[in-house]
Amino acid sequence: MNFVPEQRTNPEYFTPLYQLALNQFEKAVDHLKLPPDVTEWIITPGRSMMVSLPIRMDDKTVKTFYGYRVQHNMALGPGKGGLRYHPSVNLGEVTALATWMTWKGGLMNIPLGGAKGGIRCDPKKMSQAELEKLTRRYTAAIFPIIGPEKDVPAPDVGTNSQTMAWIMDTYSMRTGFHTMGVVTGKPEIMGGSLGRMEATGLGVAHSIAYAAKKINMPLEGATVAVQGFGNVGYYTAKFLQGMGAKIIAVSNSLGGVFNKNGIPIDPLHQHSVEDRQLDNFPDTEKITNAKLLATKCDILVLAAMENQVTEKNAAKVNCKIYAEGANGPTSLEADKILEEKEIFLIPDILCNSGGVVVSYFEWVQGMQSFFWDMDDIYKRMEKMLQNAFEETYTLHQQEKVGMRTAALMIGIKRVAEAQMTRGLYP
Ligand code: NAD
Repeated sequence: MNFVPEQRTNPEYFTPLYQLALNQFEKAVDHLKLPPDVTEWIITPGRSMMVSLPIRMDDKTVKTFYGYRVQHNMALGPGKGGLRYHPSVNLGEVTALATWMTWKGGLMNIPLGGAKGGIRCDPKKMSQAELEKLTRRYTAAIFPIIGPEKDVPAPDVGTNSQTMAWIMDTYSMRTGFHTMGVVTGKPEIMGGSLGRMEATGLGVAHSIAYAAKKINMPLEGATVAVQGFGNVGYYTAKFLQGMGAKIIAVSNSLGGVFNKNGIPIDPLHQHSVEDRQLDNFPDTEKITNAKLLATKCDILVLAAMENQVTEKNAAKVNCKIYAEGANGPTSLEADKILEEKEIFLIPDILCNSGGVVVSYFEWVQGMQSFFWDMDDIYKRMEKMLQNAFEETYTLHQQEKVGMRTAALMIGIKRVAEAQMTRGLYP
């Protein structure tokens, strides 16, 4: 489809990641035959807020940061999406991530729209006191547009349950009442759902298990390489190891480790928390990120950042299942190369959706102030993930399109249907 939305020429939005989100969208809508005006309507970001965040640093100087919240499309429900603290955050990146959240909500069939937030900062170089001030100031700045019925942030790269606790507290101080449903991914003591912390990684592991079944590959003894060892990477590796797979390579932003006989994940995690460096872990050899992506393995998990596998290195990928725990790790050109190599790709909006599913559960529990046990959460989550996986796989086979395009088609179609059914205001 030769579709050129306004954002293509707007430099604020038009960054490489947003370009990727638009290109993927165009490829999927080509198969959907939506009316062009509806296509334009649902891809255009609904509301984008950009705020300045002056805070007093520990050295008493005032430093001003940029913050963003983008609500891409709310046809299915209030906005839902993470909050990222990273030096590369900009409007285009946040908008791309919000756009993917829209299609993810549609694909998972949950009553939530797509949103995302971010602050351009380097949290690794800031103290806890500075991060708390920055988070509280950001919450106050975006206060008018967030809330349990409006838009509900959650953790992403560089943020965690403590960040969510500060947002919830600041928001509640402003409203004057306890507002649990304003964020998900909170600490359990504050109404965080059981299972939220590990939900994304567990969902990635489940998706890999479904894919392995489709290609008749036993998980027992399957070799795995994992790029990224934060929330998503660690839990994915841990659950896959629990399912009998052998984790042979792991990396973080500083480099990685390799052992063809397998690496024990919990001790490695403990080591990485204490040391941050992985590369002096016992019985492993040092490996670069580039080498990890080219490691011969059965399963390659991308759980770091966007734009990791492109036309430059896709040909070197040597796995049977390629699982996108991260958002947007693969360029469109790389998609094509992986397809030619007959690698089974589990696209991000499907693969990492365990997080948004349990976030949805946390939001529901918070609104009702009634909490479910772990068994309920895991069972409901698995059912939703399996349904979405089967639906995507069936469409992929029926329409002879890649798994990414199939997943996007399902998500986009649901959002378009909701949008058209609601109709146009005024
Ligand atoms: P995190 O901050 O906990 O971890 C990120 C990890 O990636 C860290 O280990 C970091 O060192 C590593 N990393 C960064 N750049 C790297 C590079 N170039 N090479 C190798 N490793 C690198 O973040 P997270 O929450 O685990 O998120 C990871 C990805 O998953 C992001 O794309 C995020 O949007 C996506 N995601 C997260 C969730 C969630 O629930 N946390 C849900 C859905 C999607």
